[in-house]
Amino acid sequence: MPATAATPDQSTDGQSLLVIENCAIATMDAAGQEYASGHLVVGGKRLLAVGPGPAPARYAAAGRRIDAGGQLATPGLVNTHHHFYQWLTRGLAQDAKLFDWLVALYPLWSRIDEPMVHTAARASLAMMARGGVTTAMDHHYVFPRGAGDLLGAEIRAARELGVRFTAARGSMDLGESAGGLPPDFAVETTEAALAATEEAVATHHDPAPDAMLRIAVAPCSPFSVTTELLRESATLARRLGVRLHTHGSETAEESAFCEERFGMGPTAYFESTGWLGDDVWMAHCVHMTDADIAAFARTGTGVAHCPSSNARLAAGIARVPDLLAAGVPVGLGVDGTASNESGELHPELRNALLVSRLGPWRERALTARQSLRLATAGGAEVLGRRDEIGSLEPGKLADLVLWRLDGLGHSTIEDPVAALVLGPPAPISLSLVNGVPVVVDGELVTADVAEIAATARTQARRLAERAAAG
Ligand SMILES: [Zn+2]
Repeated sequence: MPATAATPDQSTDGQSLLVIENCAIATMDAAGQEYASGHLVVGGKRLLAVGPGPAPARYAAAGRRIDAGGQLATPGLVNTHHHFYQWLTRGLAQDAKLFDWLVALYPLWSRIDEPMVHTAARASLAMMARGGVTTAMDHHYVFPRGAGDLLGAEIRAARELGVRFTAARGSMDLGESAGGLPPDFAVETTEAALAATEEAVATHHDPAPDAMLRIAVAPCSPFSVTTELLRESATLARRLGVRLHTHGSETAEESAFCEERFGMGPTAYFESTGWLGDDVWMAHCVHMTDADIAAFARTGTGVAHCPSSNARLAAGIARVPDLLAAGVPVGLGVDGTASNESGELHPELRNALLVSRLGPWRERALTARQSLRLATAGGAEVLGRRDEIGSLEPGKLADLVLWRLDGLGHSTIEDPVAALVLGPPAPISLSLVNGVPVVVDGELVTADVAEIAATARTQARRLAERAAAG
């Protein structure tokens, strides 16, 4: 935990303080501490105090006080897997499984450009932020030649909306003619992908402990990337001191592809290319054997669990209770909105719990508190930021959400965490990122959502027209 005194942003000068009182608090700290009625004190970008009852008398001069009766305070939600550009291609290939869905959409995706990606990123971020996400992540791996600065467009959008962001510079270099799934026109060369990834880290990555922006190295998947790009990406990320991300063990077809091409399953293949480690997290991890789970646990490799996307593409149900029992770090992910049209993370808390009870491990299925933990502390761990975000503790960054539980939808659920996870999506009265309001009384204050919706429609039409023109 960083020191909680003597830094300028932790001033106890009354005017700069925000005191929140009279709310239920689920801290999501290591002990799972909760308060039926408690207080939070925010000074600058950090939490100064969290505890039961009213705030201590020394904060009596705080410039701003909120009576949060009827509300639940949680850490801001952390999204660990997404593809923002897919906002422009929602509702397509509705009944397809992963490989057919990808093949149907690659031709569209390969026509994206910078204005499209900027708009799609704003829309994706607005959707998530309005639902309590304070740390977003994006995995962008489609870089058509001449399309402009696509990663830069996403980074700009996150800055505009005030959301903490991990941008994963993705890549594909295994086209159809070489045995991969994507068409040749949608892939980069191995060298170009590596050079652009290194440049992205050099230009944008902020290693500071309160960073609003981090970069990760993220080749797309075993069936769209060469072994060389996987190996070299792992080497590059470790040389630069950044994290690694990819898709793994998503479908039975991916397992069959790896068996046929490499003579081993996806996890063994990842291990053979340097891709297991506590600096790696992978999306999905649905088709995992006991040995695969043990390998993830042994190496500290993290998982981004995306229950809605896995259901939408009929991929299967990830063994989250087994992953957690083995000690694997697990966070939640929206995944791209072409396979999860909702684009919101807070419904995934409920979906994660529900789908876990459909598996064969009913007696160890997720609880409401475990589900909330995945979306907060779990996500922070998966993104390598457990010391900074993901729980409400003095000294941590002030990324938090106040959920209204005093309306009709939650009126008869006494347990606030159960109300949040099992009940309908709760309205948000306030969300803070770095102590700065992003949502106030249910409205995004950093962008005009009507304008974003209109621009998104225009850019989606542009993309459809470009693709139709060939
Ligand atoms: Zn994905």
